[in-house]
Amino acid sequence: MRTFDRHGLVDVPRYPDHGYALLADRIKGLLGTSADVVFVQAEAVLALEAVAASIARHGVVAVNVVTSAYGRWFGHWLRRGGATVHDVAVAMGQPVDSSAVASCLEMLEHVDIVAAVHAESSNGALNPLAELAALAKSRNALFAVDAVASIGGHVIDVDRIGIDIAVIGPQKALAGPAGVSAVVLGQRAWDHIAALPDFAPSSLSLAALKRDWLDCGRPALPGTPSALEFWALEAAIDRIEAEGMERVIERHQQASRATRSALRALGVSPWIARDDAASALVTSASVPRGVDGPDLIAQASRYGAELAPGIGDVAGHIVRLNHTGLNANAASVRSNVVALGRALEQLRFSVDLDAALRAVANAYERSTGSNAGESVR
Ligand SMILES: *Cc1c(COP(=O)(O)O)cnc(C)c1O
Repeated sequence: MRTFDRHGLVDVPRYPDHGYALLADRIKGLLGTSADVVFVQAEAVLALEAVAASIARHGVVAVNVVTSAYGRWFGHWLRRGGATVHDVAVAMGQPVDSSAVASCLEMLEHVDIVAAVHAESSNGALNPLAELAALAKSRNALFAVDAVASIGGHVIDVDRIGIDIAVIGPQKALAGPAGVSAVVLGQRAWDHIAALPDFAPSSLSLAALKRDWLDCGRPALPGTPSALEFWALEAAIDRIEAEGMERVIERHQQASRATRSALRALGVSPWIARDDAASALVTSASVPRGVDGPDLIAQASRYGAELAPGIGDVAGHIVRLNHTGLNANAASVRSNVVALGRALEQLRFSVDLDAALRAVANAYERSTGSNAGESVR
């Protein structure tokens, strides 16, 4: 690993004024979209709050899918903005069934917004993006997506399936900085926002960002943009472009396939049963009956892998195996599986670790990718 020099972080050169537009265009390129990209100079949760604040007003009706705390917060921010929000809740830590969203839509005379998280890092669920987009379209509603934990891990076909608003962050699969995020907005989203009274001056106002940045030819961002964050974002995008976005996505998909196949060989159930409804960034394993979740995580840490608990109502029921960003590779997948297997053995739960490691090797051997098999025994 390179040594880290914090002193290199002071006195960094100003980020060039024309650079922001170039970065926005490169993000558009990664997503293959013709929609606008604007930056929110903060962690992705703040970009989500900015979206909610910018699209909610009295009289606006939203159907909000809640598959984790992020969706719950989004609903809260929409309500705070005056919108009427119908939450569609799901079984603990599971993806939404689009028929539940369809039933909710059927009961409503009028819907302006359908909102959902694409992939959940807190529990490993993947929501059916194209089905939700089609449902939103069928009611002529805006489709707003939290894609923070899916960009770089899953295909997000903004233009083709009809995503009007997508919030993205560089800090997950793109292995970039966490202090800047971006919002993708299509014309329908801008039309909706333009029809509402604005609340600027506010750092949450996307209408103000449009007026003060997009509409004046994308000069330097308003305020004092953090040069550190934008240089880091540029470096992350350089790396993603060099590898190729398709390859980055495939690397995450492969890590997910390998991990899920290893869990089954180990004798542990993936928490999300269906492969096509699972996140490519984290894999949740069910904590076996009779095993204590925190004990399992403590044991696993002795074997050098940091398994994480589920967040929210799944805490204690799942452990998450992380294969996000630079960890989406065979070595990380294998060390997660070894740690989980050894920890379960310590807790007197019998597993087949050899079979699990063979499953990882098989998943990587079958591929033709550049790092295939690289660190698989
Ligand atoms: C990680 C994540 C975010 C952003 O959360 P941060 O606290 O900014 O890292 C938003 N939505 C989802 C679904 C996420 O997984």
